Formats: sequence, C-alpha cells, structure tokens
Amino acid sequence: MFEKILIANRGEIALRVHRACKEMGISTVAIHSTADSDAMHVRLADESVCIGPPSSAQSYLNIPAIISACEITGAQAVHPGYGFLSENARFAEIVEDHGMTFIGPKPAHIRMMGDKITAKEAVARAGIPVVPGSDGAITSDEEAFKIAEKIGYPVLVKASAGGGGRGMKIALNKEEMSFALSTARSEAKNAFGDDTVYLEKYLSLPRHIEIQVVADSHGNVVHLGERDCSLQRRHQKVWEEAPSPALNASERFEIGSVVVKAIKALGYLGVGTIEFLYEDGKFYFIEMNTRLQVEHPVTEAITGIDLVREQIRIASGLPLSFTQDDIKFNGVAIECRINAEDPQTFAPCPGMITEFHAPGGLGVRLDSAIYDGYKIPPYYDSLIGKLIVHGKDRYDCLMRLKRALSEMVISGPKTTTPLFLRLLQNSDILNGDYNIHWLEKWLEEEKSGQ
Ligand code: ADP
Repeated sequence: MFEKILIANRGEIALRVHRACKEMGISTVAIHSTADSDAMHVRLADESVCIGPPSSAQSYLNIPAIISACEITGAQAVHPGYGFLSENARFAEIVEDHGMTFIGPKPAHIRMMGDKITAKEAVARAGIPVVPGSDGAITSDEEAFKIAEKIGYPVLVKASAGGGGRGMKIALNKEEMSFALSTARSEAKNAFGDDTVYLEKYLSLPRHIEIQVVADSHGNVVHLGERDCSLQRRHQKVWEEAPSPALNASERFEIGSVVVKAIKALGYLGVGTIEFLYEDGKFYFIEMNTRLQVEHPVTEAITGIDLVREQIRIASGLPLSFTQDDIKFNGVAIECRINAEDPQTFAPCPGMITEFHAPGGLGVRLDSAIYDGYKIPPYYDSLIGKLIVHGKDRYDCLMRLKRALSEMVISGPKTTTPLFLRLLQNSDILNGDYNIHWLEKWLEEEKSGQ
C-alpha cells in the first residue's frame, strides 16, 4: 500500500480524497495555486506545495509543476479527483513514466473513452446498446442527410471530442441539418481543436441513468447500481439520486449484467461510469467517464462502499473488498449540488463567506471545503458543496433533505440552496416523475410566473 499520495485537485473533492487516505493511514500532499493558499484542502493535508498562479492552466493543469511537487515530496501515487487532469491520458502516462502510480484507469482506456466515436464503437462491440446513429464520423452533408432519413428526424449532431454539452446541435428536419452541422463543427473546433462530428437519433424525453462500475487488476468487475441524473441545466447535473425512481430490480439487474460483461471484455481497470439515456424501457449508451464522478456519494450511501478507498486499493494491486453478491442496495440517497450562484439567474457569486452552519444529523453528509471567513475565489468552478441525504425510502429521504436544506446557513455569496427548497414543493419532483428537459422547462415557467 502507498505511504504518501499527492492529490492533484482542489475544493471538496481534494478533501474527499484526503479523508479516504487518512482513514487508510496514508499521508497526503496537497497542491494549490496562489489563490488557494488558505483553502481547506491545503490546511488539512500533511504537506502542501504551491504550483503556480491562480489560472488553472498555470496551476491545476500544469503537468511539469505537479510532477515536480510529487518528486519534491516523495509521493508514490497521484489521485486526480474529477475535472482538471482526471481524464488526460497523457498526464496518466507521464505520472507512470516518472515511476509513480496514477490512481485511475490505464491511459489507453482514458484515451478510448475520451473520443466519443471510438468509445461508442468499443462499447457497442462489447455488447452495450447505443443510440442509433452514424457509423463513426460524418464526412459530408450528403452522408448526413442519408443517415438522418434512415434513423428519422430529429437528429443530434455531436462532437467526437465533446464535453460539457459543447459541439451538440439538434436538427428537427432536413432544412436545419446543414446549419446544425456547420455550427456543431465550428463550436467543436473552437472548444476542442477538433471538428469531427457524428449523428445520433435525438431522444425526446429520456432520463439520464448511469451505472457505476468498479474493476480490479485480478479480473473482478462489480456494478454498484445506477444513479439518476436527469435533473440538468444546460447539460450540467443539478440533483442526482440513487436508485432511479424509474427502474425496477429486474431492469437494474439486466443492465448491470450487460455492463459488467462489457467492462470485463474491455479489460477496464478502476472505477468508471457508463452513462445512458433511458426511454420507453430501453437504455442507450452516450458516454463513459473514466474517473470518480461528482455524484459518487449517492452510490456510497446506498451501498456502504467507500469508492475512493476502493480506487486506492485497486491502484495498489489489491483485489476488490467485495463481490457482486455482497452488494445490497439500501434505501434512497439524493445529492444536491450547492453552487455559489444566484439561484434565479445562475450567475457565479464568488466572495467571502461571513457565516456558515453545516446541517447534520442521521443520514446527512455535506462534502464541502468551505468555512467561516473563507473567500471563494473567482477562478474556478462554482461548486462549493454537495449535500447528500440518505433515507430508508424516497419519502424519508425527501423529508430529510428538506430538513437539512433548511438548517444550512451560508451567508455572503448567493448559493443554489433556495432552488432545492423550491423544487421540493413540486409534485413531479416528489413523485420522481421527470426527464432531462424537466428542470429547464420548470425554470422557464417559474421565470414567466406560471
Ligand atoms: P457531454 O460530454 O458534452 O456532456 P453527453 O453525450 O454526455 O455530452 O450528453 C450530455 C447530455 O446531452 C445528456 O445527459 C442528455 O441530456 C443530452 N443528450 C446527449 N445525447 C442525446 C441524444 N441522443 N438525445 C437526446 N439528448 C441527448
């Protein structure tokens, strides 16, 4: 087992990884920009190294500075968290080339899943159902028209290098296709330096359901059920829950088995998430994330498994500490992403936290790195905390969530906490009856006073 791990991240996820390390008797090294000198992840780590100025490009994405920090401190492994360098295959290779362990999948798998066309081809070969669409990249408008006629409008033009919803354009009919192709291409070129696009059938009212998997280097693969992440704004998840209110036990068993078989066939290592759209009882693969997800705690709540501990164990060559038969799904968990944003306009609100009180009690977990007097810097993501509640059933969980949200005090910057209290008054939310478009539609209706 490692004695010292460098955590190449900041904020709540850096703290999350630190906590797992401490419980395993492992020393931690924090890295930070000059803007984060007073951050909680720096304060709690055993050692810390300043790696550059505030901009992410010069600090949290600065590979030479991070490798130097590993060498100076003698860290044996690097945990990338999520975001930043977590899905950068080159970074994983460089870490390994310097004789350290990257706590994550093999670079080849990161690369394969980072390109949506290769990812889709690979998982389809391994038996996972995918959204009907083009076989690979679209090379001409003529080809796009032909495929769209075959699969039927509306279709979605998607960037192969896509992420964060960029380079994605819908075409409702043939007339809209040329424009959708050219705008998706130019958006993808600007955002990712690659204008390769492909076509997918546009699913009208699906849910976003993802399956968590864990695979060790001894050939064991286990799935930990699903998370429903349908409540999204601009393709960004806002509220996640496990299990999905839409799935029954046999559907869960079926999709879990398909995914486990495919992950074994791919020879994947570490934790990973297979994301699907789910409509009319059918699953359609959209992408695989080769890292820990923001919303991993809801899975931890219902399975009792510490996913970061498992990641570290797997990276050090140990087998999984459980089998599929050991996994029992217990109750319901919901996560709310608390962002430092205006709850009406979603404009970022950095600044000083003048008062902070964390909710607590049975079944309540707050993953956050904020504290009284902490100044949220303007340079990074606006996520400042994740409130995760667990109850014996969905009703219990919703009541607990309402109770916990009303206990939370964060004064100074505006946060999205009031949004969740408003959502909890809606009958669709209470009934678990929503899809990927529900939240944006509801926000529009709220704005127009309906
Ligand atoms: P990104 O990596 O840019 O986030 P994804 O492929 O993961 O892109 O898709 C993000 C979101 O876009 C999904 O959660 C869903 O809301 C929507 N989406 C993606 N593909 C489709 C599709 N074929 N039909 C309808 N909606 C889609």
